[in-house]
Amino acid sequence: MENVTIIGTGPAGLTAALYTARAGLRPLVIEGMQPGGQLAATTTVENYPGFPKGIGGAELVLKMREQAERFGARHEMEEVTEVDFGARPLKVKLSGGRAIETRAAIIATGASANYLGLPSERKLIGCGVSACATCDGAFYRDLPVAVIGGGDTAMEESLFLANLVSKVTVIHRRNEFRASKIMGERVKSNPKIEIRWDTVVEEVLDVKKNEVTCIRLRNVKTGQASELAVSGVFVAVGHTPNSGPFKGHVALDEKGFIVTDHTRTDVEGVCAAGDVQDPRYKQAVTAAGSGCMAALEAERYLNTH
Ligand code: NDP
Repeated sequence: MENVTIIGTGPAGLTAALYTARAGLRPLVIEGMQPGGQLAATTTVENYPGFPKGIGGAELVLKMREQAERFGARHEMEEVTEVDFGARPLKVKLSGGRAIETRAAIIATGASANYLGLPSERKLIGCGVSACATCDGAFYRDLPVAVIGGGDTAMEESLFLANLVSKVTVIHRRNEFRASKIMGERVKSNPKIEIRWDTVVEEVLDVKKNEVTCIRLRNVKTGQASELAVSGVFVAVGHTPNSGPFKGHVALDEKGFIVTDHTRTDVEGVCAAGDVQDPRYKQAVTAAGSGCMAALEAERYLNTH
């Protein structure tokens, strides 16, 4: 039987792994199919303390993993399909069919990118529509692309793409960015980036079959429709928590975030950390901080039960 099973390997899961490993609990970490979470797909992380020149997201995750392993954390590349938190010990079922018995669990499964929900967008995911510039940007070298959204992700993706593509057009539904001021200013002052304010995407078109050629836009203030020729569409409109397997087993809020009190869920011995329980801050450093809190809470639980 495991002492503590940590589900997820973003900054929250890996920090929980480090702390529980250093406490001598030999944590088992279930990696999931996207090891490192969103951070692994981020280019340069400039706001994680301790790296004055920034650090690559994938490199940061790798270092966190090495640090946890040094103290005895073990990793398994599987996905959690089902849990039974009513049972003691807790039960965590993996995609390979194996069921793990564990005294405590920490959920750190993060969040996934949202899409606009247009049928034409769905059809062209992987054929010009993407939610990850770091993953797919290189396919659009010297071609025009659009980035949808006005948050920090949209800014980061636009700035990354501006170094590769011929032109970036940011499409935002309001007339001001949600993003932090510094990121918004960088986008506004980049000569390769144009911003279309108060504008929404109505359809993604593929005149060349299965290859994005253009998007149909509408100005929400004037109602005016237009078309913009682009080869790629990068959607950056927020995230949904990856709490699916835990629905009905721990309390979730109306948007699917796990409800926590100092990282404790409503089930004794089960904690949650990082973006899966944080609709507010969603930063690597806050995820890491909550991973530490969850580890300390799990340790306290194990010491008293
Ligand atoms: P956000 O929720 O911050 O922003 C989402 C953006 O998408 C908003 O501008 C929103 O518009 C827009 N949007 C949402 N739904 C739709 C829709 N259906 N159609 C059109 N537009 C839509 O998400 P992010 O992923 O950008 O950021 C998440 C968190 O991660 C934030 O806290 C952010 O600060 C952080 N982050 C930090 C980074 C950094 O500091 N380097 C990098 C990336 C993320 P509206 O503004 O009108 O609501």
